Amino acid sequence: MIPTEIIIHCSATRPEWLEGQPLSRAVKTIDSWHKAKGWKGIGYHYVVGRNGKVLPGRPESEQGAHVRGHNQNTLGICLLGGFGGSADDTFNDHFTKEQRLALEKLLVDIQTRHDITILSGHNIYANKGCPCFDVSKEFSLGKITVPQVPSLFDSIIAFISKLFSKV
Ligand SMILES: [Zn+2]
Repeated sequence: MIPTEIIIHCSATRPEWLEGQPLSRAVKTIDSWHKAKGWKGIGYHYVVGRNGKVLPGRPESEQGAHVRGHNQNTLGICLLGGFGGSADDTFNDHFTKEQRLALEKLLVDIQTRHDITILSGHNIYANKGCPCFDVSKEFSLGKITVPQVPSLFDSIIAFISKLFSKV
């Protein structure tokens, strides 16, 4: 599968769902829900925890199962949270700032590997709240800036050039 679109979802769970437990527990639980639907396992490609941790679900190379009629060439990302929400809500109504940063990083990361041309939310394809905000209002492709933390290598180079500039 060659992904060209990313579709955002939410788990529609309460903010405190599986609080204090490893994110792998949530991924396993979602996996069991999707198996119960007769699917081969978790339908999303990524899950973003409340604390900003991200775990893969279904491999990017495999077609997901997350939007009826739109699983071909799309990657599904699920944000934990969104219980009782609607399509008119905002990201901040349901999700944490750690999730916002993690999602932005993930979007950048996916775009380094795939030619993604569309970013959307489940609610534009179905009469559902999911992911309980308007994706087009809050996130965009290509224009995402993630603060760069200098790597150790860059720091060493900077230190050495400082040393030499004093000589
Ligand atoms: Zn959804």
